[in-house]
Amino acid sequence: RAKKAGPGTVCFFEVSDDRVSRDRKALQADLEGAIAREELFLVFQPFLDLGANRITGFEALLRWQHPQRGLVPPSEFIGIAEETGLIHEIGEWVVRRACATLSDWPDDIRVAVNFSAAQFHNTGILQTIVQALADAKVSPSRLEIEITESMLLSKYGSAGPILNALLELGVTVALDDFGTGFSSLTYLRKLPFSRIKIDQSFIRDMLVQPDCAAIVKSVISLARDLNIDVVAEGVETADQLEYLRQISCDEVQGYLISRPVAADAVLKLLDTKKLRATFAA
Ligand code: C2E
Ligand code: MG
Ligand code: MG
Ligand code: MG
Repeated sequence: RAKKAGPGTVCFFEVSDDRVSRDRKALQADLEGAIAREELFLVFQPFLDLGANRITGFEALLRWQHPQRGLVPPSEFIGIAEETGLIHEIGEWVVRRACATLSDWPDDIRVAVNFSAAQFHNTGILQTIVQALADAKVSPSRLEIEITESMLLSKYGSAGPILNALLELGVTVALDDFGTGFSSLTYLRKLPFSRIKIDQSFIRDMLVQPDCAAIVKSVISLARDLNIDVVAEGVETADQLEYLRQISCDEVQGYLISRPVAADAVLKLLDTKKLRATFAA
């Protein structure tokens, strides 16, 4: 890249790349102690069931409160965690924390936890999840695991047996960011998914691009025939919500319904009648 840009810019790119990698190393070093320093925490974003007009659960989303940088989003540190192997320790913390939090919620509320492909390279993850559920005394059927298509690609070899063991326990599996990967329908045959989550890019464009609406509609109709529920991610406007209701989308998630909230705000959110009033059909 530096060569193509010409001799005058070589130095600039080298310095810049160097700084980026130094910054990355610094972030990596900080991340190593983040759990011990209690800088990680989870926020929870609700799923709203459009048929029943109620919140059915929450997705756990990881946050890092860095002492100097402030709040670091997962897009900036999950990749580092995956490359360094820290994802195993972090992922274990996430699932234990999510299950412990879930134990305070009503029995008909689920929690969904995101997993990276790398976490399934370590077969210990199965025991970790089983132990987290047992320690929190919550039913496995209340835990959902969110994975992306890429995990079922080359990595299927290691993820498959673990996911199947979890399914046998009653844990459910959702296919996250649907439509952004290869979206081969073959994936839908690999595992008995409970849910498909249509990526937010489709929801954002569906009311402005007819092609996009067609895709969203056919995913919903396909899922219905396969007996899989559909969640629309990233719902931000009332028009989007109305359209998704019309085409019988099962559940929605997005800033319109609620931003991710702190654990101690979850019960309040479940309590509030405001949600129902606002989104009643
Ligand atoms: P994801 O699982 O697809 O999560 C959805 C992301 O969209 C979240 O970003 C959420 O805050 C955001 N979002 C929700 N509603 C809206 C909306 O209406 N509009 C817009 N523009 N965005 C919305 P977040 O929390 O920054 O997480 C980003 C990604 O990081 C997640 O995507 C997931 O892949 C990953 N991630 C988060 N927590 C974990 C974790 O504990 N473990 C692993 N392995 N990955 C995680
Ligand atoms: Mg997710
Ligand atoms: Mg997603
Ligand atoms: Mg339903």
